Amino acid sequence: MIDLHSHSTRSDGRLTPTELVARAANAGVETLALTDHDTIDGLAEARTAASAHGLRLINGVEISVTWQRRTLHVVGLAFDEHDAGLAEGLAALQKVRHDRAERIAAKIEKHGVANALERAQELAGDGQITRPHFARLLTEDGICRDNAQAFKRYLRPGRDGHVSVEWTTLLRAVQWIHGAGGIAVLAHPFGYGFSGAWRQRAVTAFAAAGGDGLEICTGTTDRQQEVTAARDADQHGLAGSVGSDFHAPEQFWLALGRLRALPGGMRSVWDDPRFGD
Ligand code: AMP
Ligand code: MN
Ligand code: MN
Ligand code: MN
Repeated sequence: MIDLHSHSTRSDGRLTPTELVARAANAGVETLALTDHDTIDGLAEARTAASAHGLRLINGVEISVTWQRRTLHVVGLAFDEHDAGLAEGLAALQKVRHDRAERIAAKIEKHGVANALERAQELAGDGQITRPHFARLLTEDGICRDNAQAFKRYLRPGRDGHVSVEWTTLLRAVQWIHGAGGIAVLAHPFGYGFSGAWRQRAVTAFAAAGGDGLEICTGTTDRQQEVTAARDADQHGLAGSVGSDFHAPEQFWLALGRLRALPGGMRSVWDDPRFGD
C-alpha cells in the first residue's frame, strides 16, 4: 500500500509527523510521503517514526506555485532533504506565507476575530501558518459554522479574507525539486476547481516546465476522473502518482492509503530510478 501525499502539524495537518506515521503504519501503508505545504521540517521526525514502524518514508513537500494568477500545487518526492537550493526556495515561500498571514489576520480581525495573527501562530506552532488555521479561528469565534463555511465566506479567492500572493513559478518549483535529485508531480488536477480546458492547460504548462508526474488517484477522485487524468498524463509523457492528501482523522471519509490502483498499464513515479528501491 502506497500513499504519496499527506500532511502533518508542520503545515495544515492535525497529527504530528510521529502520529501520522503511526496511523499510516496501522492502516497498512508500506510507503508514505509526508508532503507538508512549503516545508520539509517534519521529515526528520517522520523518518525516526517510520523506522520504528518498519514503514518506508519518502521525502516529500507540496510547493505552492502561482500560474496564470491561479495557485497550483507541485509535490516533490524522493529529493535530498539537505539540498541548499531547495532549502532556499522553501525559505522564500515561507516568507511569502508569513507576510500573507499578517494580511489575512488584519482582514479577518475586521470581521470580529480577535488577535488573529498571534492565535494563528499559536495554532501553527513550529509549522507554517495556513488558511485552515484562520478557518479554525473563524469557527472558534462563532463567525462561521465550520471550516467549509469559513473558506466559502472568507478565505477563498474573491472573498474578503483572501489575500493573493505570488508564490513561485512552475519552472522554479520543478527546478528546485530536480536540483535536489527529486521527482516533480502536479498535485490533484481535479482539486483546483478548473474547467476541463484549464486543467489541460495547467498539465501542459507543468509538462513544459519539465514536470515528471501527475497525481491520478487521490482521496477524493472517482474512477472517471482518474481515467481522465491518466489520459492527460499520457499525452504529456507524465508518470502517475497516488496520494490521499490526508490532513486529519476528522476527515472520516478519507483514509491514509485507501487509494485505487493506477489505471492499467500506466507508468508510475515509483518506477522512476530517482524514487529508489
Ligand atoms: P494555503 O496553502 O495556506 O492557502 O492553504 C491551502 C489549504 O487549505 C489546502 O491545502 C487545503 O488543505 C485547504 N483548503 C483549500 N480550499 C479549501 C476549501 N474550499 N475548503 C476546505 N479546505 C480548503
Ligand atoms: Mn492542505
Ligand atoms: Mn494541495
Ligand atoms: Mn496537500
